[in-house]
Amino acid sequence: MSSSSPLEIAEFHGDGISNELSKAVHAVADALPIDVNFHDVDMTLERRRIDAEGSYSDAEAAMNKYRVAMKYPTVTEDVSPNKVLRERFDFSVIHRPVATIPGVETRIRGTVDLHVVRIATGGTYDDPGRLIGKDAAISIRLIERRPSYQASMFAFRLAEKIGSDVTSASKRTIQKHTDGLFEEVAAEVAQQFPNVKHQSELFDALLAKLIMNPEGYNVIVTPNEYGDFLSDAACGMIGSIGLGASASYSFDNDGNIVLAMFDPAGGTAPDIAGQGLCNPSAALWAFSMLLKHVGQSKLGDKLNAAVRDTISSGNRTGDLGGSLNTEQFTEAVIAKME
Ligand code: ATP
Repeated sequence: MSSSSPLEIAEFHGDGISNELSKAVHAVADALPIDVNFHDVDMTLERRRIDAEGSYSDAEAAMNKYRVAMKYPTVTEDVSPNKVLRERFDFSVIHRPVATIPGVETRIRGTVDLHVVRIATGGTYDDPGRLIGKDAAISIRLIERRPSYQASMFAFRLAEKIGSDVTSASKRTIQKHTDGLFEEVAAEVAQQFPNVKHQSELFDALLAKLIMNPEGYNVIVTPNEYGDFLSDAACGMIGSIGLGASASYSFDNDGNIVLAMFDPAGGTAPDIAGQGLCNPSAALWAFSMLLKHVGQSKLGDKLNAAVRDTISSGNRTGDLGGSLNTEQFTEAVIAKME
């Protein structure tokens, strides 16, 4: 292992396959040429049932101390832990990369290589609405300048780094004030990046164009709900819904990242939990995003490619038609990295 200071990571343990995913991440971390220390936080349902506040404040303390965290799936009983963490950490942007995995069957022709960058708050998701009389209901849709700016900055910085363009997508012609504000902010941010081409698409048209010409898009920035729809649609395009990794970020007033949390986007998979059968790919991709975030770009890229190449070479877990268990798949990924 290296002599430089170790990488300190908060680790939020959840339910179902959480432990198996964590074990896979630890096995990969142990094989890296850097020292990695994980700091456990118990966010299991068992703990949250008796001490929810303790669990969330432990997560908060660890996050404030280490600034980066891995999180595994958690059961939502009454309260969604993801919502609680998002509010406590002031996450305002979610980044979901979705890329074709060669060899995995899809219904779409072409290659998908997308970065969905979405505002993590507002849209239609913060207001459950209320009934007006018996047969009508309303809810408020919220678009705010600050998270629109942060999401746009994140998207343009990412595009600048990877040499792509940015597409902002919304329904600006219908939601003139709300999506109009979002597009106005995206266009303002675009001015700061003269080398990054910016185009704006109507969200419905974007979906059609994306399916017809997936190669035409790289970084897409959208309001909350559209980003949510698009992330799942993109996963469907690569034939692997539930295999995506996700990063959530909070920012300071200058648009710099303050806190970052990385997690596999899938659920707790209670039907296979504890059997050592789950696919750890999304958790390993989340870990690769974390490595890139903390400046270990080469290692992050290497891990990302190793997971992809392992799947492509036919070494797969049961959900992708293979016969490897979680541990065997993880060992195959580690072997590819070496
Ligand atoms: P939750 O309530 O936590 O969302 P769920 O079972 O409703 O749990 P998922 O966890 O997304 O939803 O599971 C949906 C299906 O996908 C299940 O059959 C599950 O076994 C499978 N699945 C989910 N994640 C994985 C994984 N990492 N590896 C293999 N199969 C998985």
